[in-house]
Amino acid sequence: MTDFAATRALFHLPEGVIYLDGNSLGPLPLAAQTRVGQVLREQWGDQLIRAWNDSDWMALPARVGDRIARLVGAPPASVVTGDTLSIKVFQALAAALALAPPDRRVVLSDSGNFPSDLYIADGLLTALGGRELKVVAPEEVADAINESVAVTMLTEVDYRTGRLHDMAALTARAHAAGAITVWDLAHSAGAIPVHLEQADADFAVGCTYKYLNGGPGSPAFIYVAPRHAGVAQPILSGWLGHAEPFAFERGYRPAPGIERMRVGTPPIVALSILDAALDAWDGVDMGELRAASIRLTETFIREVERRCPTDDCGLALASPRDPHARGSQVSFRHDHAYPVMQALIARGVIGDVRAPDILRFGFTPLYLSEAEVVQSATILADVIDTRAYEAPEYQHRAAVT
Ligand SMILES: *Cc1c(COP(=O)(O)O)cnc(C)c1O
Repeated sequence: MTDFAATRALFHLPEGVIYLDGNSLGPLPLAAQTRVGQVLREQWGDQLIRAWNDSDWMALPARVGDRIARLVGAPPASVVTGDTLSIKVFQALAAALALAPPDRRVVLSDSGNFPSDLYIADGLLTALGGRELKVVAPEEVADAINESVAVTMLTEVDYRTGRLHDMAALTARAHAAGAITVWDLAHSAGAIPVHLEQADADFAVGCTYKYLNGGPGSPAFIYVAPRHAGVAQPILSGWLGHAEPFAFERGYRPAPGIERMRVGTPPIVALSILDAALDAWDGVDMGELRAASIRLTETFIREVERRCPTDDCGLALASPRDPHARGSQVSFRHDHAYPVMQALIARGVIGDVRAPDILRFGFTPLYLSEAEVVQSATILADVIDTRAYEAPEYQHRAAVT
């Protein structure tokens, strides 16, 4: 049994805060604090450049990748870390296009995808020329998969609504049509059980600062199915994806497997923090995590709707009501979403807002209790009931929402 009281003790959680934004930036794992001090002093400080060998810095991107692999249903040596998610989207999409039948012109995505994924696809397709990004509504994706599609580029869990795609079914459908799949796991990794290998996914990418608690800007990850790893084109052919970086050859030869998806010098301090953050997952059963997450999201919806019926409060559930059709977040629409969230944050309940009108709350069993969820519903109902959000100090929009 996963001991969620024990995992909670692994995090620094500020007094007086109920944190419902671990889907955007996970809290600080205490082990990360210890590790970073050690890496700075003992490795960088004392070993200096010898640390690349003596502390095995060079293997860190793949070692951390292996720890993430377990959480997303991928076999060892199929995941590597580095760069940002936007860059990994570029790499995965470029490699997928190179593997797709050459006469296919369409990259298929949906309007619930995160803008950066769509912007990156726009940029790549502009550079390549002759291809088109087709964006349909999330519920129309399955029907839009046909023989014109080269690559499906989908984010499994919608960042606004939490709606969950059926990865196995859509992957099977894409394969039946001869297309290659790219899955973005930004809101899946550490949030729900993911079975990349079982679903037969081709490429997957994700970030580590959300549910994996790797810290602001922590390195992203990329998965390449073992059947493609030896043939996939890295496209961003940097020296650390070379088969022998320290041969300093003129010609690029990709590393034999997943390491070809590395680009440049790995961010060792950030990777070390991420490595320490992943300790929190060691005893966690993803099935039990999912059950606990569903309990928390169901409690939140029930408690909010009980205290604050839609007609009275103007709150409308924006997430699927079926817990199996959503990830680990719950979103409500409200006409005054932004000031409502500012008033909530002032009362210690931290969530966030996604334009134009979404109040977004993330649920993370590793460090969040049922009692806190009930309390946050009470505070939300009170903010709306008393119109506390109308106070002038909550009207000013900050740069980051
Ligand atoms: C959070 C998120 C990103 C962010 O990309 P970065 O390069 O890490 O800033 C991209 N795509 C999706 C689907 C996300 O949820």
